[in-house]
Amino acid sequence: MKLHQPDSPLARLLSERNARARLLIVDDHTMSLKLAELTFADHFELITANNGPMALALCQQQAPDLVLLDIDMPDMDGFEVCRQLKSNEATRDIAVIFLTAQADEAQEARGLGLFAVDFIAKPLHPAVALARVNTHLLVKLQADAIRKLVFLDGLSGIYNRRFFDQQLVVEIARSVRNGSPLALILLDVDFFKHFNDHYGHQAGDDCLREIATALKASLRRPADLVARYGGEEFACILPETDFSGAMAIARVLEDRIRKKFIPHARSSVDSVVSISLGVAVRSGFSLNHASELLATADEQLYHAKHTGRGRACGILMGAPAPS
Ligand code: GH3
Ligand code: MG
Ligand code: MG
Repeated sequence: MKLHQPDSPLARLLSERNARARLLIVDDHTMSLKLAELTFADHFELITANNGPMALALCQQQAPDLVLLDIDMPDMDGFEVCRQLKSNEATRDIAVIFLTAQADEAQEARGLGLFAVDFIAKPLHPAVALARVNTHLLVKLQADAIRKLVFLDGLSGIYNRRFFDQQLVVEIARSVRNGSPLALILLDVDFFKHFNDHYGHQAGDDCLREIATALKASLRRPADLVARYGGEEFACILPETDFSGAMAIARVLEDRIRKKFIPHARSSVDSVVSISLGVAVRSGFSLNHASELLATADEQLYHAKHTGRGRACGILMGAPAPS
């Protein structure tokens, strides 16, 4: 089996990642689930679910590389599970292969239209099923490697500016289409030059990593996004978030970073590291381009810097500034 050849492309990618490939098998029939487990257990880290909601929860929590997904299940069928996986930013890159007892062309077309990568007929033919899974895993892991290089920030591991710029355009279009508000937060570490001068550049890098992790952990909705925008600046996109919601989140972020209690002996804001934040919110009905939203958030950030730092200032675009 090609997986066992240490120099196979799949084995190489897995060793770079330093983890086995993780497979989620979803089937409401115990016998089918057992057969699939027997087929794949020697090769992958396996997780199993016997219904759709459980499969969705496991995908969120455990980020499998690939899901083998039964179509016919009570309550939520495989098509609906796939649709939800692909519409959530956190799970959309997971490869989905449908398992089906009687594949007809209409079913296949529907499944492929939902961005599943393949169909495997039940009962499984172990060697064929394994070969197909290996092929799709290889493609998925190659795509992961490319995404990482292109869209992740090397220092902090969160999204980089390239990804952020792309998503901002996507989210503005979605906000226009749905008539839903969209919030943008730009934030910048206070007196970070002094921090570097005092503690050294390495400690500065560690501080940025800690801030990135804390920001990411603080944004709970799956569609929220945080990126390193440059140097010691970060940016958050909060879809379907109105002005009061965005200001509340900005204050939470400010508080969380302060409560990391990273000492900052050269700050005149506090004895620990703090951030300043600028918030711009477009209502669902105004027409603002990405550059306007960014410029507005940047103005608000400037305002926060010049009125004491360690605080958030914001504005609802197209409306009078809140008092
Ligand atoms: P302000 O409160 O007005 O934002 O002051 P500041 O000192 O944070 O702002 P300024 O723009 O003057 O300096 C930013 C500093 O951030 C300068 C630079 O050395 C540091 N910096 C930017 N990127 C990195 C990085 O990747 N690692 C480290 N260690 N420092 C960085
Ligand atoms: Mg700066
Ligand atoms: Mg700064």
